[in-house]
Amino acid sequence: MKPEDYAVLTKHLRAKMGGRNFLCPVCGSSSWGADGPVASLKYAELSAGPAQVGGGAIPIVLLVCQTCSYTCQFAWLPIQAAHNG
Ligand SMILES: [Zn+2]
Repeated sequence: MKPEDYAVLTKHLRAKMGGRNFLCPVCGSSSWGADGPVASLKYAELSAGPAQVGGGAIPIVLLVCQTCSYTCQFAWLPIQAAHNG
């Protein structure tokens, strides 16, 4: 992850957490590794008829707890858009 993107992500998380650290829900650690927004979440369209695999993709950033390996993800585009105002 580019340092400038990591700075945007951590600023976003800190703002949403009211200035507190984003803690792992499993082990309570605040030590995270981040990757992305290179990863994309592929999804199947389930709203009309049979699932259509290979539909859209959502750019995401991954956070991996450096203590227990719990992984979570955030949609990147809304975070980036909020940052760019
Ligand atoms: Zn953890």
